[in-house]
Order: sequence, then C-alpha cells, then structure tokens
Amino acid sequence: DRTLTDFDPDVAELIGKELQRQRCGLEMIASENHAPLSVMQAQGSVLTNKYAEGYPGRRYYGGCEHVDVIEQIAIDRVKALFGAEFANVQPHCGATANAAVMHALINPGDTILGLSLDAGGHLTHGMRINFSGKLYTVAAYGVSESDYLIDMSAVAAIVREHQPKLIIAGWSAYPRHLDFARFREIADEVGAYLMVDMAHFAGLVATGLHPSPVPHAHVVTSTTHKTLGGPRGGIILSNDAAIAKKVNSAVFPGQQGGPLEHVIAAKATAFKMAGEPEFIERQQRCLAGAQAIAHRLSQPDVADAGISVLTGGTDVHLVLVDLRNAAIDGQQAEDRLAAIGITVNRNAVPSDPRPPMVTSGLRIGTPALATRGFGVADFEFVADLIARALTATDGADVSDLAAQVRALAEAHPLYVGVDTP
Ligand code: PLP
Repeated sequence: DRTLTDFDPDVAELIGKELQRQRCGLEMIASENHAPLSVMQAQGSVLTNKYAEGYPGRRYYGGCEHVDVIEQIAIDRVKALFGAEFANVQPHCGATANAAVMHALINPGDTILGLSLDAGGHLTHGMRINFSGKLYTVAAYGVSESDYLIDMSAVAAIVREHQPKLIIAGWSAYPRHLDFARFREIADEVGAYLMVDMAHFAGLVATGLHPSPVPHAHVVTSTTHKTLGGPRGGIILSNDAAIAKKVNSAVFPGQQGGPLEHVIAAKATAFKMAGEPEFIERQQRCLAGAQAIAHRLSQPDVADAGISVLTGGTDVHLVLVDLRNAAIDGQQAEDRLAAIGITVNRNAVPSDPRPPMVTSGLRIGTPALATRGFGVADFEFVADLIARALTATDGADVSDLAAQVRALAEAHPLYVGVDTP
C-alpha cells in the first residue's frame, strides 16, 4: 500500500506545513486544542472502513463485533466521566448534537430560547440562517448592559413572555459560570426542556473545575475537541430514560447514517485521558493561564489604550477583550497577534458597533497551550507579549515579540517524534 507522501505528495506537504504552523506558533483560539497522538492514531485507523448503522448490539450491518465493544467503551467512559446515566457518542460534531436534541424534543415552529449570538451564543442556538433559526421560532436572552453578565431575572422574564419549548444554556464566548439550577427552575416554570451546551467548558466540568450541568439539565450536549482535548465530534448526555430513547432515534435514523467508528474510538481514548490525574492538572493550568491573561490585560498600560477585559476577568478557559474604545478593531488586533505568531480570533462584543467580519473584540483561549505544557509563568509571559502587541503603536517593529513567541514555542515542543503527516 502506498503512503500518503508517496501517493499524494501535494496533500502530504500541506499537512506537513500545518504541523509546522502548529509547532512554531502559539494556538490561542479558545475552541481549539492539540489532540494527543493516541487520539489521532485511533482516528486514523481502519475503523474508518466500517459501517455500523444502529447502536452496540443492535446494528444493521454484520462484522460489528469489534466496533460494538469500542462504542460501548466510549459510552461507558463518558457516562462515568460526567456522571450521566445515558450517553450517545455518535453525533458527528457539536452542531449535529444540538440539531439531534431539537429534533428529538421539539417540533418545527416551536420556540427555542438561547443566548444571542452577539452576547456569546452559538449559531445552533437560533441564529437566523442556521437550521435552528430556520426551523424554529427564536427568542433570545442577552447579557446585562452594565456588567455583561447573564441576568437570571431577565432570563425568567423573557421565558415567561415567549414560553419556549426548549431553553438553551451554553455559549461560545462568555467568560463566567452559568447558574444551571436557576435555568432549570425557570424551564420547569413554563414546562420547557433545558438543554445545556457545554461544548466549550466540558473539560473543566470533567475535572470538577466548573459546575456540572448534568444534574440540572434535561439534556447536555458537547463537542469532544475543545477543552476536552479529543477528536472533532459531538456527544449527548442525559439522566432521563425517556429523553434518552428519543435522542437515540433522533441521531439514528433521524439524522445521521453510519456512525464514524474511528472517531468514536478516538472519543473513547480521549475520555480515558480526561479521567487521568494529569488531565486535572492540565485543566488547572488552562484556567490559571486564562486568569493570568485577564489580569495582565487589566493593567493600566492596557487600559490607557482603551482596551479592557469583558466582565473584568474569567472563570473559564477564555478571556474576552473589549476593543470598543481602542484605536484598533477586532480584525486589526487579530492581525497584530498573528504577526507575532499567536493565533486568536476576533469576536463580537455585546452591542458591537462594528460588522461581524471586523468586530470590536478578541477571544483568547488557553486550552491548546495548556496541553502543550504551559504553566502559569509561561502564561504570564504570553500575556505580557499580547499586551505589548495590542498596545504597540501602528507600524511599530514587533520582531522582538515575534522572536520571543518563537522561543516559547520551541521550549514547548509539539508532537515530538512525529515527522510525517
Ligand atoms: N456549541 C457550541 C457552544 C460551540 O461553541 C460550538 C463550536 O464552536 C458548537 C456547538 C459546534 O461544534 P462543531 O463545530 O463541532 O459543530
């Protein structure tokens, strides 16, 4: 059999370049991580060949004796990790996990209520041209204008007004904990389902560094590739047997065909990893790193440049930077950091006056660097480089900052011993 390099040198070369990009720079996109070699080996295995429509022990194809065991291991591990009675590990990604839950629990035209996009919600929580916004009637809650926090009494009022069938708690860009118990009380008041989308903070939940939504929500969805550090994919958890049954049939045959058993194997490996003591230590560094960044970006030199930290800090793996009063916009700030080798993404802030392709904010995350072994002192150092890049005068020479980023990357080698794609 021919290797990738031999058969398709064009693609092989580009994968090699991407490996170099990840090695030489610092990845600080809050939704990204570096999956370990073991996870990538499982995902790059012969399991990609196997059709296994159905669930373990109830398949529509022969030859499932091994994938049955693998999928059951994934299910058992994720249930133990999050203390849930039911898990579906087949969703191809976070978006399809959310779609499956909506498909399972509500009908087209029903009202859903989630955090608005500009306050940090996800596209699948009701954005106008997403399936969620097209199939369902959408209402949204935001954050308070004064402190940028979700005000639960405002949520309760919006819920009473719109009487949603499904309430979504969860976010892509919000730096604080959510009050899951209160969300559930509010949902119960109007007979709505509560879905918590913990895609971003699942790694923190798995290690007890973030309150768990599992005891409170009717159903919990997540991705497996953000703080959780596994392969790209989705999961659905619940403690309710009737909901579990509906979710299973919504995923298959309702929405998907054959499960990606190679990804499910990689999920199983990632769930094992997330149960180890080193993973707790990693999530602690991830959290401490985000707090170090928030602290540095709250210092007077940064404030003088009109740059601030939304909500004044963070409880999670990311920091939201508010540039509404700064000389640079989100796009320019993203470019500034890219120029010194740090990858982040621009992000709308609440009531952002700039268009979505420009924005007035930055989202800076620490999971990938924590995976790479960064400790608090390293994060403090990175935070200083970020502060200096963002406050530099336009056109200033930032080559010394770029050199320091490069040195930090070299001091934390990535995928050691992996030379070929
Ligand atoms: N839910 C939340 C809160 C997210 O932030 C994301 C991804 O950014 C998703 C769902 C969707 O995940 P995926 O990109 O795997 O479809």
